[in-house]
Amino acid sequence: MHFLFGNYYQFSLFWGGVIALISSFAVYYDGPRESENIGWFLSNIFAAIWSFGYLNMITTQDKEIASLSNIILHWAAIFIPLFYFFFTLAITKSYERYKKVFYFFSILAIFFTVIVTLKSFVLDVVPKFIFNYVPDAGPLYKYFTAYFFIVVIYALVILYKNLDVTEISGLDKLRLKYIFIASMLGFAGGSSVFFLTFNIQIPPFSIVTFSLYPIVITYAILRHHLFNVRVIATELFIFALWMFILIRTLAAQNSQEQLSNGVLLIATIVIGILLIRNVWKEVRTREEMEALTEQLAAANEKLKELDQAKTEFISIASHQLRTPLTAIKGYASLILEGDYGEISADLKHASQIIFDSANTLVTVVADYLNVSSIELGKMKYDFTVFDLKDLVKSVIEELKQNIEKIGLELKFECDVTKSYSVKADLDKLKQVLVNIIDNSAKYTPKGGITVSLTKNSQAKVLFAVKDTGIGISKETIPKLFAKFIRAKNANETNMRGTGLGLFIAKEIINAHSGRIWVESEGEGEGSQFYVELNETNF
Ligand code: ADP
Repeated sequence: MHFLFGNYYQFSLFWGGVIALISSFAVYYDGPRESENIGWFLSNIFAAIWSFGYLNMITTQDKEIASLSNIILHWAAIFIPLFYFFFTLAITKSYERYKKVFYFFSILAIFFTVIVTLKSFVLDVVPKFIFNYVPDAGPLYKYFTAYFFIVVIYALVILYKNLDVTEISGLDKLRLKYIFIASMLGFAGGSSVFFLTFNIQIPPFSIVTFSLYPIVITYAILRHHLFNVRVIATELFIFALWMFILIRTLAAQNSQEQLSNGVLLIATIVIGILLIRNVWKEVRTREEMEALTEQLAAANEKLKELDQAKTEFISIASHQLRTPLTAIKGYASLILEGDYGEISADLKHASQIIFDSANTLVTVVADYLNVSSIELGKMKYDFTVFDLKDLVKSVIEELKQNIEKIGLELKFECDVTKSYSVKADLDKLKQVLVNIIDNSAKYTPKGGITVSLTKNSQAKVLFAVKDTGIGISKETIPKLFAKFIRAKNANETNMRGTGLGLFIAKEIINAHSGRIWVESEGEGEGSQFYVELNETNF
């Protein structure tokens, strides 16, 4: 394993090769069907083969092995620029434009793969500089060199020209930049060995950039999440395992040991690939989930804004409606009271309808205004301490006449000797009590309503309204205090209603730290509404 820490050339080739291999697989698994990934994958696989081949050639003692390595590394070297060119066309979306050039380069590549074993391509492998074996260029070698540089430079020019393409998103642009820098370094480093081949007295110092290439890629990974760190870590680990077993296989003392190590190697390769695939899958799923969550959060934000806008709209619209409604009600009432002189029975009837309808609208508008102040968080409370018994009595006085007019009985049960003091907003609480009693009247075709006020030992005051009306089904009960909820049977009995009253009531009671709930045995069985408040001492 001395090449891991051996001289600087061996070190650069080894790590350059490792990173090329890893980045090829990382990109491939990121999208195996995308042509740019296939291009990157292949050109990096060949770069890895080239670097390991070169490493083997310059370190081996055996000339036969050096010759074989030379052929392998050259085969690989032919395809590095070709697939890099393909990758560049794919990533810049200019394949159609340069298709013919690519075909031409492919034909040249095939030609070189055929002549790579000829003596006129590489004369021999000989010791040079500090290396054990390095190729010696034959007469045909210069054509290969020209091919190599033309293809690489062509690809880099296309890539450079496209660095600012507008259709490419921010992250992809960043990737493109790093890939551009990394590939410049890789090619500059790798191709410096051409000097040796041509016996030019320049040692391949710039091979250092071949080892910078992995540094750039690693930086991009860590800093800009170019590829996923977890995947890279898994791949590094598995690759190290493979290398370890491979070296053991090669260094085995006897064939039995070699065989067992070989089998182990194949098994780890299969398992390793499966593991990497799984990690990739998991990472992709997580990335997709993250993207979806982001989208959802954005949509949610948008919805909240729309909801706010709607609430504000309702608030403004309701305010605007209030003034003309007051005028309609006021004038209708003046007409009814005879302020404009004697009126006929028909006109009286019509005015009464105008007055009643305006009145209904006033309640509806008030409900909408209440809901929008609740939703905008602008509901104001003015708490005072008073006896709830007095409030309930006055509410009953107010409603009694109308309730009895429609043929219902209204009873009030309470121990008059006791006080039921609560700390509450008197107007808001009155609104709740009126709403509950009014509902009972609305949804009770015949029978009566019993209002009661009690106290229990836990210092709670309980206001209850029981009716003999249409009742509420078990399914509706849990939803009843939500916005715009009206039970099916409500519409049959009383068309009038917004489904907002109980929603507002619940909000008000919650603000009093109290409880409001309903009980009913079902449709046709009557209903009981309860409001529980904390008792306060004067
Ligand atoms: P609405 O304006 O429709 O009366 P509320 O929020 O006050 O709105 O009531 C919501 C629904 O609860 C009503 O539509 C009705 O279905 C049901 N409800 C309320 N009180 C009673 C009751 N005493 N008996 C039967 N159903 C009731």
